[in-house]
Amino acid sequence: MLSEEIKKLDEESFMPTYGRFDAVLCSGKNATGHDCEGKEYIDFGSGIGVNSLGWADEGWVAAVSRQAASLQHVSNLYYNPASAEFAAELLAVSGYDAVFLGNSGAEANECAIKLARKYSVEKYGKERCEILTLQNSFHGRTVTTLAATGQDVFHNYFFPFTEGFAYAEPNIESVREHLTGNTCAVMIEFIQGEGGVLPLDREFVTELAALCKEKNLLLLADEVQTGVGRTGTFYCCEQYGVHPDVLTSAKGLGGGLPIGACLCTKELREVMGRSAHGSTFGANPVVCAGAREVLHRVARPAFLAEVREKGAYLRERLEKMDGVAEVRGMGMMLGVVPARGTSAAIAAACVENGLLILTAKALLRLLPPLTITREEMDKGLEILEKVLAEAK
Ligand SMILES: *Cc1c(COP(=O)(O)O)cnc(C)c1O
Repeated sequence: MLSEEIKKLDEESFMPTYGRFDAVLCSGKNATGHDCEGKEYIDFGSGIGVNSLGWADEGWVAAVSRQAASLQHVSNLYYNPASAEFAAELLAVSGYDAVFLGNSGAEANECAIKLARKYSVEKYGKERCEILTLQNSFHGRTVTTLAATGQDVFHNYFFPFTEGFAYAEPNIESVREHLTGNTCAVMIEFIQGEGGVLPLDREFVTELAALCKEKNLLLLADEVQTGVGRTGTFYCCEQYGVHPDVLTSAKGLGGGLPIGACLCTKELREVMGRSAHGSTFGANPVVCAGAREVLHRVARPAFLAEVREKGAYLRERLEKMDGVAEVRGMGMMLGVVPARGTSAAIAAACVENGLLILTAKALLRLLPPLTITREEMDKGLEILEKVLAEAK
């Protein structure tokens, strides 16, 4: 089918929830994709931070294919090796003591919210159920994770939203002001991704972790975007020197298949007891086989050092470009503030010129596959440089 036919079919079929870029992707290898007519695209987005190992990675394809040819699904009524082995390895890599597996970032956060409330309600009574999140955060699209999201634009249409959320500014004074006797947890992103690639201040995180400990509030870290090597360590919390009580992980974890993990410490592992939570597709063996390959590859010092090097290289090149006002972020999660033009127009022009790039509010956002090669980076940077120079 031709690209034009595919676009037409797509537009006639889907609810119009997404503003799509004018690109049809038909095949790919690592960070290089092609449309049906053979036009090349360099990928600086990895499907919004999902394809950690790029497209069609041999090891990942083999792991997923092998599992698909054996048991594609068994349900959580039975044990199976793919999910058990992956879960155990994820705990070893992350330093957590128990995990619940669902299918998306929003679901992982739903689990974290339910866990925090159940822990607090059982220990302190049913009034102590409020969760503090940060202004400008993004936690997902379910009704409850929209309520957790600290941006008014997301609080429309779908009333009534889940109660019990308040939004603090990312500083300790504001957090203190927003705490009530009924607060049970604080939920943060170390780097606000959708909010505009905004890293939290280190000192704030240290103080927040201490405050949470003092008041027995659970610290919930949404590492859906920052996790799985993206920022140069397996989880970003390592760089902030904190070990949150609960950590959620999704996007890059499955290498392209849907997965969401909610990890917790030893003290919390019994909170979500039998029948308290569940998911039909959660811990699917094919997904777990793919995620296990991602772990084997990404959770290695040499691989993570390479992510940091590539991130530094991208940053250095970007900072020198005409049309760039600021570069921020960590590792291979980078935001670029354009000096001229809107991020939407620049991203559209990049796509036209063969570069897939993301935006986050007024910024361009780079989340390339962690396996992107130097050659692919250079090709993409060249396109971006040209587009930025022409931006008005
Ligand atoms: C993408 C994202 C989510 C939502 O993940 P889905 O898989 O789309 O449900 C939640 N939190 C953060 C920080 C994200 O970046």
